[in-house]
Parts: sequence; structure tokens; C-alpha cells
Amino acid sequence: MKRVTALGSAHVPEKWLPAFRTGHASTPDLGAHPHSAETGCALEPRCRPSRRFWFTTALISPLLLSPLAAAPASAGTAPALTCPAVMNLKIANVQFLSATPVAATQTLPAYCNAVGVIGKYVSKQDPQHDTYGIVFELNLPNSWNGRFEQQGGGGLDGSVTSPIGEAGTELSQGWAVAASDGGHENAPGNGYTPPAGVTWNDQDNNAGGTGHFAVDEQARINYGYNSVQQTTTVSLQIIAQYYGKPAQYSYFWGCSDGGREAMFASQNFPELYNGIVAGNPGFNLPQAAVAEAWNEQALAPLATSLDANNVPDVATTFTTNDLEVAAAAILQACDGLDGLIDGIVDNYSACTNEVVFKAFRNFTCPANTPPHSGYCLVPEQIQALKKIYAGPVNSKNQPLYSFWYWDAGIWDPPSAGVSLGWQAWNVGCAFCGPPTYNTAANLTLGAAAVPMVFTTPPVVTPVNGTVTSQEGYIFNYNFDTDAPKIFATTSACPQSAMEFMSATSTDLFQFQNHGGKLIIYDSVNDGIFSAVSLVNWYKSLPSPQSFARLFLVPNMAHCGGGAATNSFSGNLLTAITNWAERGSAPDQIIAANTGQVSPYPTGGGGLFNPLVAQNFPTGGTRPLCPYPQQTRYKGYPAPTNHYTGFSCVAP
Ligand code: CA
Repeated sequence: MKRVTALGSAHVPEKWLPAFRTGHASTPDLGAHPHSAETGCALEPRCRPSRRFWFTTALISPLLLSPLAAAPASAGTAPALTCPAVMNLKIANVQFLSATPVAATQTLPAYCNAVGVIGKYVSKQDPQHDTYGIVFELNLPNSWNGRFEQQGGGGLDGSVTSPIGEAGTELSQGWAVAASDGGHENAPGNGYTPPAGVTWNDQDNNAGGTGHFAVDEQARINYGYNSVQQTTTVSLQIIAQYYGKPAQYSYFWGCSDGGREAMFASQNFPELYNGIVAGNPGFNLPQAAVAEAWNEQALAPLATSLDANNVPDVATTFTTNDLEVAAAAILQACDGLDGLIDGIVDNYSACTNEVVFKAFRNFTCPANTPPHSGYCLVPEQIQALKKIYAGPVNSKNQPLYSFWYWDAGIWDPPSAGVSLGWQAWNVGCAFCGPPTYNTAANLTLGAAAVPMVFTTPPVVTPVNGTVTSQEGYIFNYNFDTDAPKIFATTSACPQSAMEFMSATSTDLFQFQNHGGKLIIYDSVNDGIFSAVSLVNWYKSLPSPQSFARLFLVPNMAHCGGGAATNSFSGNLLTAITNWAERGSAPDQIIAANTGQVSPYPTGGGGLFNPLVAQNFPTGGTRPLCPYPQQTRYKGYPAPTNHYTGFSCVAP
């Protein structure tokens, strides 16, 4: 297998590098960012880590996974140990913090909740010498079906999501389920309560915020990939001892950064998993983060006020109604390209700039019309959208990431619930009143990640400040001199962000050869990760249909939400287990539109074709189709609100 301790340059295929490799990446700029002081990895040799990779060698024994044979027995396996006895298990580098029996509820069966920390250490590299370690929770049902799932993390991690399964039903079906904090802990508060026994945290709002951990090289690597391998390896060891026999099947399922972890696992830890589900994967996250800065700088000139950090308040650039206008233009151009006017652009590959720009002209405000009228966009808004959807470039016009598909999901209507859609990522919350600070995720989560995690050495910046802030870093990001730092290394930080974060390898031979199966789903128009980038990766896989299938969901927001057929996790769980355990590949995944609570679209004063509300499948179902196939209406009189009225076809 590929050792995680030896992620060489081959890990990042050359084709992902073009614009960055021109004179910058191999000679990283170690100069301080004008708005910040550098610490952490830049402090050498004093802070040179002595314990780097010190617990990355505990690779799983082949004995911890039983051979792929019969499906899990329907009669569950009972534990061989009592729950509190888990505290006494001797597993290298693991300190158990609690092991608590949990009684059955209406939705969950009785189980044992085990909490521990893997590889706990006090950082020498972090100037504050914070404590770090991979905190994990493992839920062990009293009646076990032989399966294990690790849930992925999200964002910058820093907390443990309750392990019940990504589909929400795994623990209730008898799966053992684990989750971890990614190797560092956020501060308690803001809705986060650390597991009992976790007395440390690694957040410092004066020095990187939730990205503070990136001053420690081991914490960077734990976040990038090591927490995935370690948590699964330790969980499988606990399972084997707790039940007296090894897991029959092992899965990983994550979305967003968890989707990145899922793809990383398929490429680097192939023998650990039989099945992997990657949702909205940030598989090329450092480059996507460059686009976060690009988008905010494209919006900045439209802002009409400053926030408390003295930077453009981008919530003033596009209102929800403005994005409704943009969606109406995209639908006018592209809805019918799939043969059915229903508010869904299924033929996204035909929804080109040429047809969309033509429609934008129909929705451009007459001269001297004030912005935010609700029925047209001013030319400056349309120019900003064109710039954002074209993707970031440097001063030589070399692409730094990818362009994006046009999709009506740019409008995430209130009727579909406030989810992490295009507006939430790029513009900010439009429903929570005038913000003191920008609320766009690109300027909160992204602003913590870009200088700290995706830049080497990390640029340690306070979260807020009228002179220096993480938001300010994003608005001052230089696409010639800062963007190449995603490829940079130092002797103290020997793995670049692209090395410890990206999952862009197309060599999945070992995963495929081991019988592993991979299902990826993504939004056609995610607000943070370009589906075009993912499709290009997928198209470069050799014979992917035999072991890896990609399903794109129009209109869906980030990992769910939106006026979309976004309810499919249960069918997805069935699909991955049927494929991994019985070799039955998913030719389609049935998805329901349950995220919508009122007719779509709700307003807009006649912006939308009335056929949209008539045909959009409220409570109905559609098939999601494996790329390159797309969903197509079979034609009248087939129903437009039931999956039987549609088929999967090559465009
Ligand atoms: Ca359509």
C-alpha cells in the first residue's frame, strides 16, 4: 500500500499543477504576509517536530477484517465484553476517556459509547504548547450486524459528530459507527460540548481561530488524512476485541471535507474499506480555497458598505431576490435542454456560457435602474457572476482551479430551508439581519483555512481586527504570489497543503483490486467545490464504472438542501452495501424532493415559467444517474412526479 508517511510528489498528478508550477511552487516565499506575523511551522529549528508521524505506522492487521464472504447475519452479534471493560483494552497510543452503556430509545438501539484519544501529545511547535490528539467516539450496538462505518469530518473539523451513521440509520440497523475530531479540538461553546474527559482545546481567535492547529505539523497531517487511518484502525481493533470477532465489512462515508477524506482513503488506505461514499468532496480543496478568495474579490467592488473588520460587506452585493433572477435566467437558457420545463437543469453539460450569457441579457436592468430591484440584475452583478463561474486565474490568465457548471441552485430559496447553498458560501446569510461581520462561509470557514491550513508556512492571523483580520487576508490574497503557497513546503512543514489535503490521484488500482467500491455524489452547482473539477478527475479514471460511480444532483446545496431531489441517503446506503457486498452496481439512485415545503418557485413576479411549479416534483421522485448519464423525461404521458417517468441516458 501507499504509506501515508511517504506522500511523494507523485501524489499530486502534474495536470493539477499547471499554473502554480511556473516559478513559484518550488521556491516558496517565506516572507511574512503584510497583515500578519508568522509563527508555527516557520519557527525553526526551535520548533522542528520530533514526533512527526510517530503514530502513523500502526497499520491495520489483515486479521482485523474477515474475508469477504457471506452477508452479515441477520441475527446480531452480542458483545463478548461489558461496555465498561472497553476502558481496559490495551491498544497502542490509545487512551480511553469513557465507555458508557446507552439505553435504547425509539430511534436507536442499546449500544456502548466508547470515547478515547489516539496519539495525545503536547505540541512543541505550537507556541502555546497546546495539547493535541485524535479524539474519537465509537458506538458499539448490543446487537451488531458485522459492519463498521467511519463518518467523515467537515470544515476544519475540531469536534466529534455523534456517530450514528451518515445516512442516519446505520447505528439503528446494527452497524458499529465511529467519528473523530480530526486531531484537534475547537473551544467549547457556540453549540459545541466536547466529549467528557476532553479538557483541552486548540482554538485561539487571536492566532488563527479554528485554524490555529495548523501551526503544528502533526496536527496538519492528522487533519489531512492521519485521523482517518488511525480512527478506522483503532475502531476495528476495538470491535474485534469487543465482539470477539472482526468486522465483516468496513465503510467510510463523509461529505464536504469528509468527502475529501473519503476519496483520500480510497487512494491511500485501500485495504481498510470495502465501500466508500464521498459526498460533495473537497478532493482538491487547496485549489478550491483559492477560488474562495477569487469569488470574494470578484464581489467586493459591488459592496456598498464595510463590516466591523473594515472590509467589504459582501451581503450587500446579491440579495436572495437577485439570485432568484440569476436562477430564472439560467432556467430560461437551460431548463428545457433536458426536454422538461421543471426548474431542474438535467442537461448541465449543454448549459454553456453561450446560452446562459444570452439569457442574462434578457435579465439585465435598463440603464439607471438601481440594484436589487428583484426583476433584473445590474451589469456589474452579471460581470461578477461571469468572473466567478469562470474560476480563478493568475495575472498570466493561467487557471488556478476550475470553471463551474451553471445551475439554478445558485438560488437557494427560503422555502427549501436555509442550507449551505451558493449564497451562504459566497454572499452570506440573508435571513439573520444586518451582520456585524461577513457571514459568507468563504469569509469565516474559508478565511480561517486559507492562511492557516492551505498556506505553508501558515500565516497566523487574528480572526477579527480593523487592520488585520482573516477576512482581510482573503480580500488581499494575491493570485500570483499567495496561490502558489498551496504547493509550498518548509523543512518544518515538509508536506504541502496539496500533499496532505488533496485526493486527486487517479491511481485507485489497489482499492479496485481489493474489491473496494466507491460512490461519489455532488451538487451540479456546489457553492464551494466545482463539479466540473470532479468530473474531469472522474473522466481520467481508467474503467471507473466497474468500481466507482459519480452521481450529480441539480439544484442541491452543499451536502443537501436546496429545491432539489436531495433525499437519497437511505437508498445510497443500500446501493453501497449491495455493491460492496454482493457486487450489484447501482445503475440509478432514486431521490425524493422532500426539502421543499412550498411550491417552487414561490415568488419573483412571473420570473419563472409557470410549468416549473407544475412539473417540479413536490414530494415526488427522480432517478439520479451515474455520470456520464443524465436524467431524462420519457415524455408525455409518463408522470413528471415519479421516477418511473424518467430514464438514465447518455447525453
Ligand atoms: Ca428541466
